[in-house]
Amino acid sequence: MTAVRLAGGPLADEIKAGVRGRFERLRAKGIVPGLAVVTVGEPPGGNPYVRSKCRAAEDFGAQAHVTRLPSTASEEEVRTTLAELSDHPAYHGIILQLPLPASLHEERHLEDITPVKDVDGIHPVNVGRWVSGLPAHRPATPSGIVELLRRHVGNLSGKRVCVVGRSRIVGRPLSVFLSERAAGMNATVTLCHSATRDLASITREAEILVVAIGHPRSIGVSHVRPGAIVVDVGIHAVANPAPGAARYEGDVDYEAVSKVASAVTPVPGGVGPLTVAVLLRNLADAAEAAAELA
Ligand code: NAP
Repeated sequence: MTAVRLAGGPLADEIKAGVRGRFERLRAKGIVPGLAVVTVGEPPGGNPYVRSKCRAAEDFGAQAHVTRLPSTASEEEVRTTLAELSDHPAYHGIILQLPLPASLHEERHLEDITPVKDVDGIHPVNVGRWVSGLPAHRPATPSGIVELLRRHVGNLSGKRVCVVGRSRIVGRPLSVFLSERAAGMNATVTLCHSATRDLASITREAEILVVAIGHPRSIGVSHVRPGAIVVDVGIHAVANPAPGAARYEGDVDYEAVSKVASAVTPVPGGVGPLTVAVLLRNLADAAEAAAELA
């Protein structure tokens, strides 16, 4: 079997087309959507995730601003920065770029962003709302994966899904979304992590396997059920790639797994474009909500 290359670009383009129209309608009312990103201890060369989010927002006519705090920033400095942005009318969406330096406590700062501007969907209020099936900002990456799977598979009801990785921004919310009691969802989800024993015996059961662990090419043929759909969330720059060779790789050994799976998302070009598109859509939601209140 040679797997279908399950690219995220076409769906991302559709989502972005919707966003473009919504941003234009906002601008016609004099509102420029604003995205604020806060980084703490960003490396000297910058953070590629931050760059791509800001570039995408600006390409769509939004205003993007990065506040770069040093790695030595205190809890108070981070809190004050997020509180000021939360009150600032020019910014409709705020992202605190994670992970934070070890000296700071991530959990404490998630609540420093007002929930209406939490376009990453990780403020406890938003988490509580989406776990309860209520309208809320939802994390972009798992939302995009759900839409890609719905597009490729159709109804996910009863499908056996294995999600490997339980991060707050990818694996855990994805497990909640896929198992939601909602039309087209209702999948049977197993959530694996670093304490999972005999991972391959569990992943091999899955009709749909989603991998978000952050270890390059660590999922191979032995982990995949023949005919499964494999979604690779990981992205890693290849150190010293040979001329013409791939510069990025995922958590999945794409070449090997493509011989047994029915579909595999490529890296790059799979989940990444969807993350950016859904983030912009969350920003449109936030800016429209602010416009209604104004
Ligand atoms: P993360 O915060 O790095 O956490 C990794 C998760 O994988 C943890 O839950 C960890 O378990 C689990 N894990 C680690 N090693 C494992 C193993 N050998 N077997 C089973 N589980 C294991 O995860 P993340 O933020 O979701 O990022 C994962 C990858 O996706 C990274 O490469 C990241 O760059 C990429 N990413 C890509 C996008 C995109 O748009 N393409 C978006 C977000 C992230 P414990 O909880 O037990 O530690």
